[in-house]
Amino acid sequence: MDNNEREFSDLSMSRAECPKCGAVWMNGEHYWATGVKGNETDLAGLVCNKLGDFQCINPKKGAEGGDTWKKRMEDLDKFGEKYEDGESQWWNK
Ligand SMILES: [Zn+2]
Repeated sequence: MDNNEREFSDLSMSRAECPKCGAVWMNGEHYWATGVKGNETDLAGLVCNKLGDFQCINPKKGAEGGDTWKKRMEDLDKFGEKYEDGESQWWNK
């Protein structure tokens, strides 16, 4: 899965954008809007399984096991627990 060293040439670059969720594929690989290399299964769990319809071009649409908002919220809970002791008032420094 590590194709970071691959040289991208403008000539061979193909870009596909999902008309439904706006996800972008470059040369067949999904990238997040931030330009970070994406994960089609995570994208499916977060976006396409909910919002995607026949327009969605994510090949993993409908796939289970990716990141989900439920998981994201649990991560946020952990973040909250880490700071709610009041000792680390990172927001008030
Ligand atoms: Zn999509």
